[in-house]
Amino acid sequence: MAYDAAVVGAGHNGLTCAAYLARAGLKVLVLEAREVIGGMTMSDELAAPGFLSDVHASGYLVAKLAPVAEDFDLAGRGLDLITPDPNWAQVFPDGRSLLIGRDIEATAASIAQFSSRDAETWRTLYQRYLTAKPTIVRAMLSAPKSLAEELAAPHGADGYRMLMQSGRSWADETFESPELRLFFASAGLHFGLAPDDALGGHFAWLFFAVVQDVGCSIVKGGMHNVPLALAQVVEAAGGEVRTDAKVGRIEVVDGQAVAVHLADGERIAVGGPIAVNADPRHLVVDLLGPDAVGADLEAKLKRYEWGPSFFGIHLALDAPVDFKAAPAGQVCYVHASELSVDALARMFVDIRAGRLPEHPMVGIVNESACDPSRVPEGKALMKFVVHFVPYKVTGDATGRTSGGDWDAIKDVYADYLLEWLDEAFLPGLRKRIISRSIQSPVDYERRTSSSVHGTHMHGAFVPWQVGAFRPVPEMGHYQTPVPNVYLCGAGAHPGSGVSMGPGHNAAATICADLAIRFPGRAA
Ligand SMILES: Cc1cc2nc3c(=O)[nH]c(=O)nc-3n(C[C@H](O)[C@H](O)[C@H](O)COP(=O)(O)OP(=O)(O)OC[C@H]3O[C@@H](n4cnc5c(N)ncnc54)[C@H](O)[C@@H]3O)c2cc1C
Repeated sequence: MAYDAAVVGAGHNGLTCAAYLARAGLKVLVLEAREVIGGMTMSDELAAPGFLSDVHASGYLVAKLAPVAEDFDLAGRGLDLITPDPNWAQVFPDGRSLLIGRDIEATAASIAQFSSRDAETWRTLYQRYLTAKPTIVRAMLSAPKSLAEELAAPHGADGYRMLMQSGRSWADETFESPELRLFFASAGLHFGLAPDDALGGHFAWLFFAVVQDVGCSIVKGGMHNVPLALAQVVEAAGGEVRTDAKVGRIEVVDGQAVAVHLADGERIAVGGPIAVNADPRHLVVDLLGPDAVGADLEAKLKRYEWGPSFFGIHLALDAPVDFKAAPAGQVCYVHASELSVDALARMFVDIRAGRLPEHPMVGIVNESACDPSRVPEGKALMKFVVHFVPYKVTGDATGRTSGGDWDAIKDVYADYLLEWLDEAFLPGLRKRIISRSIQSPVDYERRTSSSVHGTHMHGAFVPWQVGAFRPVPEMGHYQTPVPNVYLCGAGAHPGSGVSMGPGHNAAATICADLAIRFPGRAA
């Protein structure tokens, strides 16, 4: 048998899993459908030649809590992080901004512009995070606990209340100023959560506490340096990474997976575990199918929920453009939105009804200000991630289109958004554009099949699809009904984002099942 293990998909989680398995002594084959590795951690010259954009993820944040980069010396393999200070900003249409600095006192000073009581509250909340940090990191980097275990823990019921609280409910009871309430409610959007959705409060606290703690970075020379560094680890340990190798199905004999079949017909025998980095529905419905998993599980994955879709604008600019809110341009990630939680909530009403929103929240990454190596001398590059748009557009709150096919309407919507962004946040932006690339949800999905409907999460973060319920309770611990087939992507705990968590945890589970030593540090 040529291979002891196979990994389907070379996203950063698949490569993390493969790197640990290869270090554990298994002969590993990674199969990637696309012509390049990386999945949603890739970079490309989208807007113009010589202007290198991160196509999907830009912010390197949660992975800093994981041991993976150190276990594999990714810094020695080309991973170089840029962590600006101030680090994160919310800009308001009136030219004010709220900043997270690398130092808690800098953040508190920024918050105090709006409320000194809220500044003191943030100091307390951050301290609470630091105290809980070892537990939080352990929870992220190990298989999830059952709900019964969560509730039985000390203060379990209080923890459950906070976990389930919406962003608005938590922000309203925690902060007094509308600016802080908006800022924290908007954090939930990184997990696809509307201000009134369950889970938003807990994620808001955790998300910005992690930003405060480790800082959000962008990767020098492009996010694709993450998968490139991980692939080096796989290959150095004797593994192989093949691109243009779409897996069509996993062959199961007598309840065990024995081979993968590529879409072009090639059969590759595998003597041990097969870990799948693709989204959970693709794994269950297409790669395994009802004969291997049963009709009941197949039906559950067919009703799996995806969450809201992204829309992206990448601009090559002939010179840098300053924000109305001055220091915001230097930070890693900027939130631009209307100043009200109600406006965010209205935006979700629109997108869930199929309408293009008038004032979405836009995540702005000033790629060339943070990393000048991305552009030719003197030029600039900005990325705008629109949270969110509908996948199927049946109307338009801006009144510019009547909805319909994304290929037909994406430029009209982008024109509208650029006009709004120029007026409200970035005066003069449109005059500086050399060329642009617009990414509709359909474009994201065409590029990377696991970005289902143009989403970023491999499955919505809703209470019935997180923790031990992710993606479904039957697969909540990386395993599937086929004992040697595993899920190692963002559809498993701890979920989406560049965290390396699902890949790390799936590899640890596989090593435990094989009774071999896991070659990484225990969380
Ligand atoms: C626009 C956008 C912006 C984002 N911004 C951020 C950010 O700033 N920070 C952050 O932390 N996260 C961000 N994210 C989310 C983050 O990028 C993803 O959650 C994460 O990268 C998912 O990683 P993964 O390895 O689990 O899966 P993926 O990256 O989706 O990788 C899965 C891989 O499997 C391959 N595959 C699928 N099916 C098959 C098959 N049959 N055969 C072979 N290969 C297959 C796919 O081609 C893909 O390469 C963003 C996402 C998007 C879309």
